[in-house]
Amino acid sequence: MTHSSKNNPRILRQKRQKLLRELSELRDLIDGSFFERYSTCSRPSCSCHKGKRHGPRAYLVAKREGRPRQIYIPQRLVGQAREAVGQHHRLLEIVDQITEINLRLMGKGENNESDDG
Ligand SMILES: [Zn+2]
Repeated sequence: MTHSSKNNPRILRQKRQKLLRELSELRDLIDGSFFERYSTCSRPSCSCHKGKRHGPRAYLVAKREGRPRQIYIPQRLVGQAREAVGQHHRLLEIVDQITEINLRLMGKGENNESDDG
C-alpha cells in the first residue's frame, strides 16, 4: 500500500470533522463514576440487619476541587446517570482519536487548513 488512506490528509480531516461533530453532542457528560449500594438503616429491628438490606440505591461520585463529591441518584434518573458517565468515556476516546489524527497531520507537515476539502 503506497497511498494508505490512514495517512491521507483529506480523509484524516474528514474523520476529524466527524469526531468533532460527535463531541458537540456529549453535552450531558459527567466525569465521574456511577455505583449502586445496598445498605442498612438505623432501626435495630429492621430486616435489613438480618440480611435483607435496603437498595440498591444509586450514586454518582465525581472529583471536584480535589475531593470526591457524591450525589444520590433517584431511580428515574439512573439511565441518565449511566449515560452521563458513558459520554465522558466517549469524550476521552474522541480526544485520543483526534490526537492521533493531529499527530499524523503534523507529522506530515500539514498545516491547519479548513476542513472543507
Ligand atoms: Zn432497615
